[in-house]
Amino acid sequence: MPPPTNRLSAQLARPFLVHLRSRLPATVLPIAARARAFHASSTAGQTEAKEGTPKATTNIHKLTPLTSEKHPEIKRDPKFSQLTDADLAHFHTLLPPTSILYSASPPTIASSDLMPYNLDWFNLYRGTSQLVLFPRTTHDVSLILSYCHARSLAVVPQGGNTGVSGGAVPVFDEVIVNMSKMNNVRRFDEISGVVVADSGIILEKLDEFLTERDHIVPLDLGAKGSCQVGGNVSTNAGGLRLMRFGSLHGSVLGLEVVSIEWDVEWGRNLVL
Ligand SMILES: Cc1cc2nc3c(=O)[nH]c(=O)nc-3n(C[C@H](O)[C@H](O)[C@H](O)COP(=O)(O)OP(=O)(O)OC[C@H]3O[C@@H](n4cnc5c(N)ncnc54)[C@H](O)[C@@H]3O)c2cc1C
Repeated sequence: MPPPTNRLSAQLARPFLVHLRSRLPATVLPIAARARAFHASSTAGQTEAKEGTPKATTNIHKLTPLTSEKHPEIKRDPKFSQLTDADLAHFHTLLPPTSILYSASPPTIASSDLMPYNLDWFNLYRGTSQLVLFPRTTHDVSLILSYCHARSLAVVPQGGNTGVSGGAVPVFDEVIVNMSKMNNVRRFDEISGVVVADSGIILEKLDEFLTERDHIVPLDLGAKGSCQVGGNVSTNAGGLRLMRFGSLHGSVLGLEVVSIEWDVEWGRNLVL
């Protein structure tokens, strides 16, 4: 499968970005999904295959070449700025140190702290980002995207990084916005089965939460121990429960998104 021709078009291709009019770096992240869970008894007795969770990218000894080397026809768009010390200093005013992972040089070896964020699960795509940001709140995301937009810093949203087409890793030096620290269930209504969860919650964690309440997520897949709900919605993931419950987007009732135009907005079927 060819890599995205550039980060912007890759993000704009996502169905939930149809309302995005900006042509600047990726400016929309779903922050929470409001989805319908299903009563657990509806699948009672089913046997569901469970593959292992994705391997850690740091276990890979022979790294794939950089995406930019494998695909020299893809050029970094010069309209995007390069990260400076001033940018880094600014991010430190926005976020605590535990929400910033930075390296003064691009990662080159598998054991680099930044490598798991630069390399996709299949060891097919590799970028050279030196900065990963871990927002903890919607406000954090809003601040990050506002600044990146103003500075024309390219951004790549990252969930569990289990996607199969390299969409969650940088092609070049994009700032990685990793959603793993936004991982709470916000609300669950046992009567309607509506759950509101942060986009960074791991699918398996959400399913465990709901199973304890006699419900399930209408989605199950081999990467459930690593993939996140935001990534699932972004990719409209299918999987083991697809035939029973239908397309995931059919169960998503709304998204909370951040964009430079809307700031933060909830929408019912906003992008489906
Ligand atoms: C073992 C294994 C089994 C799999 N089985 C299936 C399967 O059965 N069915 C299936 O459909 N897929 C499957 N996949 C692929 C993958 O797990 C799914 O695509 C999953 O939905 C990706 O979720 P993620 O959190 O890892 O997303 P990522 O890989 O992190 O991201 C995927 C895309 O979503 C974007 N994104 C992530 N989070 C956000 C956010 N909060 N806001 C905006 N954009 C965001 C990223 O930029 C990227 O473009 C499998 C993968 C593995 C490794």
